[in-house]
Amino acid sequence: MKIILFDIDGTLIKAGGAGSRGLNKAIKEMCGVDKICDKFSLQGSTDKENFATAFKHACGKKPTAKQFRELELKYIGFLPAEVKRSLKSKNYSKLNGVEKLLVLLSKRKDVMVGLGTGNLKEGAFIKLEPSGFGKHFAFGGYGCDSHIRSEVLKKAVERAGKIVKTEIRPADVYVIGDTHLDVAAAKEAGYHSAAVMDGFGDQKLLERSGSELIVKDFTDLYPWLIWLGLEKDSKGVRRGTYICPDSPIEHAHYGRTGMDLKDIEDNISALREMRRKAVK
Ligand SMILES: [Mg+2]
Repeated sequence: MKIILFDIDGTLIKAGGAGSRGLNKAIKEMCGVDKICDKFSLQGSTDKENFATAFKHACGKKPTAKQFRELELKYIGFLPAEVKRSLKSKNYSKLNGVEKLLVLLSKRKDVMVGLGTGNLKEGAFIKLEPSGFGKHFAFGGYGCDSHIRSEVLKKAVERAGKIVKTEIRPADVYVIGDTHLDVAAAKEAGYHSAAVMDGFGDQKLLERSGSELIVKDFTDLYPWLIWLGLEKDSKGVRRGTYICPDSPIEHAHYGRTGMDLKDIEDNISALREMRRKAVK
């Protein structure tokens, strides 16, 4: 049984800033500070981390457990209206092709599809509501499970294991995200990792993340199905026979790891600049 875990923001959908507006409003009510989310990046972190950072920025101290719960409740309270606002202003979108992939995966008996997201569970399904994707996810790991992203993923796998009543091998878990932090979390947990370029991730950081597969979006499902081991590679290379065990063909054909040519060019120009300054 293969377990496939999807991140939400920038991977399944883009909610048009609904999350940050919800958090802004919750913080404004509690600390009186406006637009707190302009002060830091929310991408790739769990809600718990983002809430703590926002509170600290706005109120100058860590929230107590009671304040934290209040912040969560206020955020969940504001979120539906903010998602609606994004929909109305046409700023809510599904990633290209992802619906096709979800439908295809839901028909297979050898895979289970779940969420691996930093969103609080309630927040996750509120954000997914307009997409209709919620029905594809019978289990997941959420931002309420842990503030550590890799722990969130492990929790999702633990829940999947309970449903199928067997222990899941890390080599059978595939994590799909949109930032280098998603990739790092998957690696930390010992799972496969892939990323979409069309989300909210930084392109350069993604290229250096060592993700097994990086593609723009889900328009062409072929690389995804090969990476998932659900289709045979046309060049006939079998999984586990190339480069290193369990991360085979994707490295060679679809993934980019380590330094790329752009990095080398950048380093050469930096050296030239240093020499030019030294000669002066
Ligand atoms: Mg994301």
